[in-house]
Amino acid sequence: MTLEEYERHLVGQLCWRCHQATHQNSARQRQCPSCRAKWSYHRRKTEWELLRAFALSTTAHHAARVVRCSYPTAYAAYTRFRLTLQAMTDEEKRPLLGALERDESYFGGKRKGKRGRGAGGKVPVFGILERAGRVYTVAVPNCSKETLMAKIQAATVKGSVFYTDEFASYNDVQSHGKHVPINHQETFGVGAAHINGIEGFWSYAKRLYRHVHGVEPGNFPLYLAEYEFRYNHRGEHLMTLLYNRLIRAAAPTQTQP
Ligand SMILES: [Zn+2]
Repeated sequence: MTLEEYERHLVGQLCWRCHQATHQNSARQRQCPSCRAKWSYHRRKTEWELLRAFALSTTAHHAARVVRCSYPTAYAAYTRFRLTLQAMTDEEKRPLLGALERDESYFGGKRKGKRGRGAGGKVPVFGILERAGRVYTVAVPNCSKETLMAKIQAATVKGSVFYTDEFASYNDVQSHGKHVPINHQETFGVGAAHINGIEGFWSYAKRLYRHVHGVEPGNFPLYLAEYEFRYNHRGEHLMTLLYNRLIRAAAPTQTQP
């Protein structure tokens, strides 16, 4: 299905449930002549425009102004999109293997001065990047050896090669695979001994997160899953992926070929 067809679905020229062409009943209310499904034209059109704004990494605040809807409407739609991406991220997860880059980073926090490890108000995030494939991220309560090892064992295949920073938490990873610690000064830019991939992901995710204000601590994993999905599908059309999924969720009676 093309995006033009998607748009016809969403603005109500095609029935969102049975995909038959519909006629206009009124400016507000549409009803499908075949399956009698009803929907509001304006609500669907607003949602379509919010979806486009979300795909372009616009904030909910900015999207509300551009689409001319209330902020709660935009925020509710954005939350729905993020929950969808989180579900898709969870479904895609599989053990990582081969050459892996592992690193930790800290998101958010308003306190100035103290930066990096142990800085106040920041969320520690643990990440693994598979050189040949995707990135895996998880928000962690702390970066202790036990916490990180549990995540590593759950997310990776034993016997992989782990490129890491030279932090103590990684020292006993030898039981799970080959460990290659990187000394930034000595090995900068030398061969395969780098963690440029995962560092690239951190800067990508933080660039997006910088524009988001006032995330509840409990909601942070939702944002993280969004960045992980966006990064893992960065060569693809996010709007198509997301809309495909939303149409399926909205029309559970429709069987996919
Ligand atoms: Zn219909």
